[in-house]
Amino acid sequence: PIDNTVNFYFCGPTVYWYQHIGNMRAFFVMDSMRRAVKYLGYNINHVMNITDVGHMTSDQDEGEDRMELASKRESKSPHEIAEFYWNLCKRDMQELNIEMPEHICPATSVIDDIIAFVQDILDNGYAYITKNGVYFDTSKYPKYGALGGMNQNEKKFGARIEIDSEKKNPADFVLWVIAKDNHIQKWNSPWGVGYPGWHIECSAIGNKFLGEHIDLHGGGVEHKTVHHENEIAQNYAKCGHEVVDIWFHLEHLMFNGGKMSKSKGDIYTLTNLKDKGYSPCDLRLFFLSAHYSKPQNFTFEALDNARDSYNNLKKLLLKHKNGENKVEKSQIEQYKEKFSEYIADDINTPLSLSVMWDALKNNKPSKDIYSLIIDFDRFLGLRLADIKEDNETLEIPTEVTTLAEQRKQARLNKDYRQSDELRDKISDLGYSILDKQNNEYEIIKR
Ligand code: AMP
Ligand code: ZN
Repeated sequence: PIDNTVNFYFCGPTVYWYQHIGNMRAFFVMDSMRRAVKYLGYNINHVMNITDVGHMTSDQDEGEDRMELASKRESKSPHEIAEFYWNLCKRDMQELNIEMPEHICPATSVIDDIIAFVQDILDNGYAYITKNGVYFDTSKYPKYGALGGMNQNEKKFGARIEIDSEKKNPADFVLWVIAKDNHIQKWNSPWGVGYPGWHIECSAIGNKFLGEHIDLHGGGVEHKTVHHENEIAQNYAKCGHEVVDIWFHLEHLMFNGGKMSKSKGDIYTLTNLKDKGYSPCDLRLFFLSAHYSKPQNFTFEALDNARDSYNNLKKLLLKHKNGENKVEKSQIEQYKEKFSEYIADDINTPLSLSVMWDALKNNKPSKDIYSLIIDFDRFLGLRLADIKEDNETLEIPTEVTTLAEQRKQARLNKDYRQSDELRDKISDLGYSILDKQNNEYEIIKR
């Protein structure tokens, strides 16, 4: 990477419905990649799109537009639908301790950039116009299909439905769609009033925030054969060179013998699991126990195991928290080296966990082990620093909690002088305040 900064793009959610825990596995993997990059000492510039236009019910651009379907189903505008489901998705991501990317970009917020990108592809001779819109000419890009290992036969999948008899090759895909009269989401363009195809948004958003070089690009495994092939072709057509260095794809969360999916209806959301008494960290530990490149089977038995493990982890961690035994520096370094090695090896989360257990099971309680595990948590994301003895949380005197509340009020009133004074008073009493999002905070005993 240039300047020690990893440019990272991940294909985000289509915000037309609840995101289930299969989707959450995808965002957990995104987060693991992000945390791995940072743990290994790089900076990160991370972009995730939000698909709020142009994604059909099939990823091959067939069927109905998902946003329009949801809009009819719920009698809301596509914009309201997008906002509602994105907020729910974001809340679940935050509960799972998934760090927010530096840039989160809804496709509808960059229609001008998308139009300019399509124009460049046309100007460079890689696309053509029909009465239905602008199509990418896959015959102009000889490497089309190389990523997913598509053969000539598979390239013909487009022939299954004849969307546009003017299409030159079956695999050609749409960049800009001329809208039918009853279509809700539409914008002016040089080719008529319409809306972007689904694939172009990722190329345009990647280009806008990361430029012509992307180190790492990820997404679900189903994107390998169509969506990402198309992205590669679009990028090449605009830039004249490859843009993405490394592609990675996560395998799916399975349930009852198939992919957990909205269309089958066999789904659980994080809220469903919380209602059944599981915590987001139980689910995160469950996710960590499998490698992203293999399908992971969801069962309640496995989730129970993860919950037991998390409870055990809490107990062992607290045992070490105030432990007086010393652990050799070289021993700590060895644990760290192993941990980093496993992360660097295609983010091997199960093996990284085994290092954590190994260290925790050291039967001489030691603060050194505690600090080591808290360091590991920069990658694991299990909120381990928040784990406290039951009585530790009760200990905060009302004098301190009152001051903290007054400070929150002062901050809301933008009276920063008063809020600083209150912080000092709290500090004199032996506590500090950790400010969080939305004016929330945590009181910590020093
Ligand atoms: P969607 O909102 O359907 O576009 O999906 C958002 C992300 O979740 C995509 O990257 C999908 O690949 C991913 N996804 C959907 N279902 C699953 C599943 N069962 N397991 C893992 N990832 C999934
Ligand atoms: Zn994408």
